[in-house]
Amino acid sequence: MRFSHAFIPTLREEPSDAEVLSHKFMLRSGMIRLHASGVYSYLPLGWRVMRKVEGIIREEMDRIGGQEFLLPSLSRRDLWEKTGRWEEYGDNMFRLKDRRGADLALAPTHEEVFAEIASHEIRSYRDLPQIWYQIQTKFRDEARPRSGVLRGRQFLMKDSYSFDADEEGLKRSYVLHREAYLRIFKRCGLEVVVVRAHSGIMGGSASEEFMVPSEAGEDRLALCCGCEYAANMEVAVSVPVPSEGESRLREKVHTPGMRTIEEVSGFLDRPPSRLMKSLIFIAEEGPVMVLIRGDYEVNEAKLEREVGPFRPAEPGEVERLAKAPVGFVGPVELDGVEILADETIMDQKDLATGANQEDYHWVGLEPGRDFRVDRYVDVRTVKAGDRCTECGGEIEIIPAIEVGHIFQLGTKYSEAIGATYLDTKGRALPLVMGSYGIGMERIVACAIEQYADESGMAWPVSIAPYEVYLLPVNWGDPRTREAAEELYRELSENCEVLLDDRDERAGVKFKDADLLGIPVRVTLGRGLKEGKVEVRRRKDGETWEVPVEGAAEKVREVLEGLWEEVQM
Ligand code: ATP
Ligand code: MG
Repeated sequence: MRFSHAFIPTLREEPSDAEVLSHKFMLRSGMIRLHASGVYSYLPLGWRVMRKVEGIIREEMDRIGGQEFLLPSLSRRDLWEKTGRWEEYGDNMFRLKDRRGADLALAPTHEEVFAEIASHEIRSYRDLPQIWYQIQTKFRDEARPRSGVLRGRQFLMKDSYSFDADEEGLKRSYVLHREAYLRIFKRCGLEVVVVRAHSGIMGGSASEEFMVPSEAGEDRLALCCGCEYAANMEVAVSVPVPSEGESRLREKVHTPGMRTIEEVSGFLDRPPSRLMKSLIFIAEEGPVMVLIRGDYEVNEAKLEREVGPFRPAEPGEVERLAKAPVGFVGPVELDGVEILADETIMDQKDLATGANQEDYHWVGLEPGRDFRVDRYVDVRTVKAGDRCTECGGEIEIIPAIEVGHIFQLGTKYSEAIGATYLDTKGRALPLVMGSYGIGMERIVACAIEQYADESGMAWPVSIAPYEVYLLPVNWGDPRTREAAEELYRELSENCEVLLDDRDERAGVKFKDADLLGIPVRVTLGRGLKEGKVEVRRRKDGETWEVPVEGAAEKVREVLEGLWEEVQM
């Protein structure tokens, strides 16, 4: 491709609204343009990258026996009502009415629709197993669309669904997907960590996420320094940092105006780990008080698994339930509220917490002796320095981006939708399903996040928009032009070349080459007088001065090395 004919509208200026690298560089390189909040148009350079990712995904899905479908985005309400997700999806689902007043959704995912097809078409155990997939647009009205394409409201997903006769079959389909995903990420040049994950609104039992460590990520992972343990913070477990107190009698102390952990800790001169947070939430079944050691935070996803959907109590509700304002509440002699205690409270001595009286706290509390605990639970957010439950090693916390998520769903959808098959004895049994998603935009953005430097992107060769950037410094010079045209012809025989044939200043060309991040750059500059050109690898800046006749050969050799890095 000749740059003079290509539509690559690069921008010199920093886009003001882009915070993460991938967003900034995708805009500056002319890969994408914003259409509406969380909705982007792909321009030719961006779409080339997306299509390469798509190609890799398709090959790997086909390799495990996947069969490609294309299901509609418009989806009937009654189908989503069968699984309860018409309600459950809430504001995240885009909804519309047709001219007859019928409700439709723009599908955020496709478990229901695939399960419905299976319910009509799969008859017997002889039809199993099946792996069905599609690469298609998903719609989610995300609360906070941000970071460019990393969290869009319209995005491309490869989603697949497995149908098996039993749990064992499901495990096999799941492992096939797990391996396919590892191959996909490796081939796209991404380094991923596989972590245990929360199944959330998908339901089902086991699930794992594929995570790319990155400062731009909204997820937090707990990793063990001593073993393989890795989990999303939403499900991570740990042994808390120990904190011991001496048993003593309880005592009410005056703590005027001291509400927060920091204030009480300073005023009573005891570390946060010797305080107890007493928090009131309103769940669907009623109010609950959650007790947790002062040096830990309550994890929303973990608490939701214990009590269902919940919200923090309003100050007025707190006063009514505990007869004291926020900051002074506690479990001592508290009636009418279920009391859950995080495991960090178990067997503790000498805890301090609110006394259900304004400006007073208790000290010296022991669970069981001084207050009731209805149930011990694990609802804390793991923190750095905790110990691994498997090997005792130290836990570290890192930010990451979720690129893929695989779920063992079981029979949740097939039962709701009536997707059954006949087994060898002629009994009708529900299909056992798995569901597996990969975000296309996230792969692209993660590849940028992982390899970009301050001057631009540095694509893994397998998903780069072009493999070679041919940069004749002075296009006006006939000798340069002739040499460039010759090299362009030769290289184009077996690789993808972008020839910068613009009458631009050298500075502009070099800046664009760095920005676009094409893996190999060939510069035809001053050295051409001595018959030399420069071959440069984008990712590490390594440079070779080679005779112009040997340039194509050198480029192929460098490319080969790069391709080897992304081979399985
Ligand atoms: P998140 O927790 O980041 O909102 P999710 O868990 O809701 O994502 P899944 O339902 O597991 O996402 O979707 C499968 C894959 O689709 C994700 O692993 C991710 O790669 C991609 N994806 C999900 N939501 C978005 C989005 N808003 N924009 C871009 N890609 C997305
Ligand atoms: Mg997910």
